[in-house]
Amino acid sequence: MKAVYSDQAGGHDPKRFVLRGKFAPGEERPERAERLIAGLRAGGHELRQAEAFGQGPRLAVHTPDYLRFLEESAAEWRALADASDEVLGNAHPVRRAGTMPSSIVGRAGWFMQDMACGIGPGSWAAIASATDVAVTAAELLLGGERAAYALCRPPGHHAYRDIAGGHCFLNNTAIAAQHLRAAHPRVAILDIDIHHGNGTQAIFYDRADVLTVSVHADPSVFYPYFWGYPHERGEGAGEGCNLNLPIPRGASDEVFLSAIDAAAPTIRAFVPGVLVVALGLDASVEDPFAGAAVTTDGFRRAGQAVARLGLPTLFVQEGGYLSPSLGSNLQAVLGGFEAAA
Ligand SMILES: [Zn+2]
Repeated sequence: MKAVYSDQAGGHDPKRFVLRGKFAPGEERPERAERLIAGLRAGGHELRQAEAFGQGPRLAVHTPDYLRFLEESAAEWRALADASDEVLGNAHPVRRAGTMPSSIVGRAGWFMQDMACGIGPGSWAAIASATDVAVTAAELLLGGERAAYALCRPPGHHAYRDIAGGHCFLNNTAIAAQHLRAAHPRVAILDIDIHHGNGTQAIFYDRADVLTVSVHADPSVFYPYFWGYPHERGEGAGEGCNLNLPIPRGASDEVFLSAIDAAAPTIRAFVPGVLVVALGLDASVEDPFAGAAVTTDGFRRAGQAVARLGLPTLFVQEGGYLSPSLGSNLQAVLGGFEAAA
């Protein structure tokens, strides 16, 4: 399958985030994309640069105030006295029962859920380019391709309509799904990143036209902690259109694959015209976040399981951090899919 990327992704290079109360080195590094591209080359995939689609697809999912904040905050932050080189909120509203302030420090808290979303001078161009990657790849499917892969960096599935979180700013998966809605009355999203896709879930929570399914480590002991539980089924028109399949931390290939298989009947019953796979690779046994113990062969079988759904499929890169197997795990998922499709 064809793969889309952007050479602007490297401009986003967050240096630190807060982990267990300490500043830790940024895990969502430019080198991730380099290793993923190496995996794509090894898999023989044709690579192409993203085209620019402007703000339209972003505005179909995110709010104008939030987009303005992402675009302008780095410059405003630098004008603060004695500030770090990256925007990082440290005062957040409880349950949003407040008013968006004018202060850049206040707005950073307003628009950021946690302290894992540093914005530097080159971040906006990269964040925007990731959505172009997603839309370019979605266009390949609209043009008749059976499958495509979008190397989106930074990732997106923790991003809400107007909140960043967990290394995510704009929800590339949601933007791709919304773009595909133009041609398909129903779109299904299957998120196999080891973290729950809380932003994607929230964006479509009250909608009947987009099914959201997430396989992830038990959120009672793993980020994003507050969402990802089985009782979250959607609301209003979207009641029944969200399915969470948490698995124990440290889960093996068999447990991971069983959860993907358990998602299949719900996806089939929804009768989607197209499937978007939120493809995190951080379920890997070698991933630094240690959420699960999936092997490269497990990822190959995950690709086969996705292919058995028999749907036009767009893979959108989510998490998956630096490890020796990052590139080969991507190659395994896409190769498994193609061999079984
Ligand atoms: Zn993740």
